[in-house]
Amino acid sequence: MNNYKDTGKVILAGAGPGDPELITLKALRYLQIADVVITDRLVSDVILYEYTNKNALILHVGKQCRKGASTPQATINELIVDYALQGKLVVRLKGGDVSFFSNMLDELQVLIANQIEYEIIPGITAASGAAAYAGIPLTARNHSIAVRFLTYYKKDIVEDIYWKDLSQTNDTLVFYMSSDTSDELVKKLIDNNINDDKHIAIVEQATTPLQNVYSCAIHDYAKKFGSNQFVSPTLIIIGKVAAFHDQFQWIENSYSKENYFKPVAKNNYESVRA
Ligand code: SAH
Repeated sequence: MNNYKDTGKVILAGAGPGDPELITLKALRYLQIADVVITDRLVSDVILYEYTNKNALILHVGKQCRKGASTPQATINELIVDYALQGKLVVRLKGGDVSFFSNMLDELQVLIANQIEYEIIPGITAASGAAAYAGIPLTARNHSIAVRFLTYYKKDIVEDIYWKDLSQTNDTLVFYMSSDTSDELVKKLIDNNINDDKHIAIVEQATTPLQNVYSCAIHDYAKKFGSNQFVSPTLIIIGKVAAFHDQFQWIENSYSKENYFKPVAKNNYESVRA
């Protein structure tokens, strides 16, 4: 066990998007000496059960968007603080990068309030992972000069003027947590006159052996993929650059509908080692 004098220490670390080899050496080094690992659902079992030291207590606090069990943020905060205040080294592991669509702010506030020491370690966010493993350059000269990271979960983009802007821009648009709303999302863009040189790439379970990429011109989406149920997690890339997938794809689709990230049983934080 690590012995921190008073308050322990918390490492907020990104685990990368799926492929366990996409974690940083720095996060890995902390997992090898951690007392407690508090993990999201979107973290590979290989990282948890092969890379993490065998004596670490592993707690699953995954949120599962609209489905299944989910641990309230207040409980997650409590767990982090309780273990840290026992003087332990706690790794709070999040899928992808820590600062993209995560509750890092909440956790930082709680750490500050309790005067607990912390470090923040970045990870490869799903957009980078999906783009690489789908053969899509997110900004490609003469195609797109910027990327926007967005979500249409809970219909977050409300203003009509913003839809107009999203439909007209040449920036690449990456939507997180939006596979359940993808039909409506595409419809909004088409209603706002998105150009027909824009493509869409839907990347299921990016960087895992179960990855699938579905891509087409945005105007063909409804015909080809409308009402599809995509396997969680899924990322949506929209823009001219999405068309590059057809040219630069280097991984075959798995065509599997199995889940790489297993759902966690309700109220069962503590995992059983395989
Ligand atoms: N912090 C994470 C994002 C958390 S929000 C990051 O930086 O990647 C969860 C959303 O991320 C999912 O709904 C999905 O849209 C996206 N995502 C995470 N991992 C993914 C993966 N392997 N493949 C596709 N999308 C993924």
